[in-house]
Amino acid sequence: MQIIRTVDELRQWSRAQRSSGKGPIGLVPTMGALHAGHASLIRAAAQACPGRVAASIFVNPTQFGPNEDYARYPRTFDADCALAEREGATVIFAPSVEEMYPPGAGTFVEAEGLSDRLDGASRPGHFRGVATVVAKLFVAAEPDLAFFGQKDAAQVAVLRRMVADLRLATKIVVCPIVREGDGLALSSRNTYLDADERGQALVLNHAIRRVEELVASGELRSEALIAAAHAVFAEETAVRVDYIECVNWETLLPAEIAAPGTLFAVAAWVGSTRLIDNTILS
Ligand code: AMP
Repeated sequence: MQIIRTVDELRQWSRAQRSSGKGPIGLVPTMGALHAGHASLIRAAAQACPGRVAASIFVNPTQFGPNEDYARYPRTFDADCALAEREGATVIFAPSVEEMYPPGAGTFVEAEGLSDRLDGASRPGHFRGVATVVAKLFVAAEPDLAFFGQKDAAQVAVLRRMVADLRLATKIVVCPIVREGDGLALSSRNTYLDADERGQALVLNHAIRRVEELVASGELRSEALIAAAHAVFAEETAVRVDYIECVNWETLLPAEIAAPGTLFAVAAWVGSTRLIDNTILS
């Protein structure tokens, strides 16, 4: 597995793959601190694009707010490389901040109307940072397929909008949420949780499961579903809800009725750690 540090080299790698004409090129963007959720993305990419998978590891400063955890975000590069190689990555793209944001960088991508919804409402500028760095990665790697987790469902909506608006040639592939045995969605930020918080964090998944049960029993009014989720959170007083939303997955606008494909998403503070979870209602 090759480690690439510059955009030019990544582009050269991608173009060499393309000229060999062997099949699609896959990209898996990550911020490192890789876990089984990331592994599932790399595996899916390796299956669709054998021998032509770039996984990027870049803690992107522009998607963190001024009081967020950019400085302390876990950085585990050697272990990440071992995991990525094991799962079938061909290349790790690990650029410096200066490589991705050259001095004076002032060009940003924003999906207006989407970028201030859900996580974007409580993390101003977050999705602008995400769309910008993913656009840069797409321009550098020129992938046919790019793999993202449903775990960050609002991010997927923002990136689909960006791909459609910019008429990019990259297809977005969404992979299911990977969970711990007890239901907690895997996240690099789970490492911040102490033992008590680890238990409290389960409330996110419990709320999601309760909503899925209600929908299965025929309750489709989002008002009722949101109220039911709030009731589950109310039983875990140590956890503070950031948002509970039932939205159209394309527009991120509130849905009154949970039609198939509706996104039900929650975000909550467990101590000083903000966690998210969601389900696509069927
Ligand atoms: P991150 O490193 O947190 O930026 O995540 C990189 C990619 O991994 C994103 O597309 C995430 O949605 C995805 N991801 C993170 N956690 C999970 C999970 N538990 N299951 C599936 N995909 C995930």
